[in-house]
Amino acid sequence: MLIDSFDRKIDYIRVSVTSRCNFRCLYCMPNTPFDWEPKENLLSYEEMFEFLKVAIDNGIKKIRLTGGEPLIRKDLDKFIKMIANYAPDIDLALTTNGYFLKNTAKLLKDAGLKRINISLDSLKKDTYEKIAKKDVFAKVIDGIEEAQKVGLKVKLNSVILKGINDNEILDLYEYSKNKNITIRFIEYMENNTADSHLKGVPSDEVLKILQKAHTFIKLERENSPAVYYKDENGYIFGLISPHDDSFCKNCNRIRLTAEGYLIPCLFFNESYQIREAVKKGDIKGAAKVLEQVIREKPEKNDWQNEVSDRAFYETGG
Ligand code: SAM
Ligand code: SF4
Repeated sequence: MLIDSFDRKIDYIRVSVTSRCNFRCLYCMPNTPFDWEPKENLLSYEEMFEFLKVAIDNGIKKIRLTGGEPLIRKDLDKFIKMIANYAPDIDLALTTNGYFLKNTAKLLKDAGLKRINISLDSLKKDTYEKIAKKDVFAKVIDGIEEAQKVGLKVKLNSVILKGINDNEILDLYEYSKNKNITIRFIEYMENNTADSHLKGVPSDEVLKILQKAHTFIKLERENSPAVYYKDENGYIFGLISPHDDSFCKNCNRIRLTAEGYLIPCLFFNESYQIREAVKKGDIKGAAKVLEQVIREKPEKNDWQNEVSDRAFYETGG
C-alpha cells in the first residue's frame, strides 16, 4: 500500500500519454505550437505498462489516461487492453476533449475502458470556438452521445470563465441533468501557459447561481477532490475547488507524464524521472522512484496565493 507523509492513501495514478492536443483551450495551452513534443521523447506503451504493473502491485487501484488529448496518440485501445488484461478489476478511466470519440468510443469500451470524463465548456458553437480556438462543438456533443450509447460511464467537466461561459452555468447543468450525466464545474487554476487575462468563477458563485433554480443537499465528501450535491430530483453534480483548503486533504493521486516523469502534485514543478530506469528495464529502480514520490508528496497546493508554473497539458489536469 502507498501511504504518503500526511497519512493519505495513494491509490490513483493519472497517466498522460501525450502532451499534444488538437484544441488550444484558453485555460490550458492557447499559444503552444502544435508539434512541440518530439515523439521520440515519449515512453512507449510497453514501457509505461511495465511501470504501471509495479504501481498496481503496490496498491494502485485506479488509472486515468489523459493528456494533452489522449485520443491523439495512436493505438490507445491497445494500451487500455494491456492494462485491463493485467488488472481486470482496476478502475480504468479516460479524460478527453471528446472530439474523436464518435469513432473511437466503442473500440475503447471493448478494450476494457470503464469510465470516461469529457470536457464540455459551452453549449454554444461560437463560445466553444473562442475557448478551444477551434470549431469543435458539434463533434464534442456527438462524442458525448456516442460514449453514452456504447455504455461507458460518463462524467462531464466544465471550467467556468468570467465573461466567457459564466452565463451558461445553468444551461450546462440542465443539459447534463437531462442526459443523466454528472457534471463537475472546475475552478480555473491559474497557470503560466494559460491566457493571462482569464478569470475563473469560484465554486461558491457557481453554487449560488444553481441555487436560484434548484435546492441541494451537500453529500458527504468521498476520496475525491470534488464536493457533490444532490438536487430535489436526485440528480448529482460536483464542484471542484482547488482554491479551497480542503481540496488537498483527500488527495489520493500521483501523475505520470508521457515522457516518464512522476509528479507528486499538480501545482508544483517537482518531478521525479522513471524514464531512465524504465528504458533500461530496471523495474526495481522505477519502484524506488515511486516510493520517493509518495514520500515527497506535498501537503497542499498553493493556488490561494500563486500562479502555477506547471502546464496542465503535461500533467493531464
Ligand atoms: N484534453 C483532455 C481534456 O481536455 O479533457 C484531457 C487533458 S485536460 C489537461 C484535463 C482536464 O483539465 C480537463 O477537464 C480540462 O478542462 C482541465 N483543465 C485544463 N487546464 C485547466 C485549468 N487551467 N484550470 C482548470 N482545469 C483545467
Ligand atoms: Fe487540449 Fe484538454 Fe488542454 Fe483543452 S484542456 S488544450 S483539450 S489538453
